[in-house]
Amino acid sequence: MATCPVCGASVDEAAAKQTSGFTAHGAKETDPARGTRQFHDGKWVYFDSLECRSKFLRSPESYNKPA
Ligand SMILES: [Zn+2]
Repeated sequence: MATCPVCGASVDEAAAKQTSGFTAHGAKETDPARGTRQFHDGKWVYFDSLECRSKFLRSPESYNKPA
């Protein structure tokens, strides 16, 4: 399980992969309700919703906490 960096909800990675594209740039979602992902800073980031992804893309640095 991945965790949404915006709201902290758990995201089913398998479902998100199934419903999104596999390219590094601009993955397209066909079923946003099942989660989505975005390639950012060399790795995939998973989100539970398009809304969270939009928030993240607006200011990724505020959600991208160092491990
Ligand atoms: Zn979220």
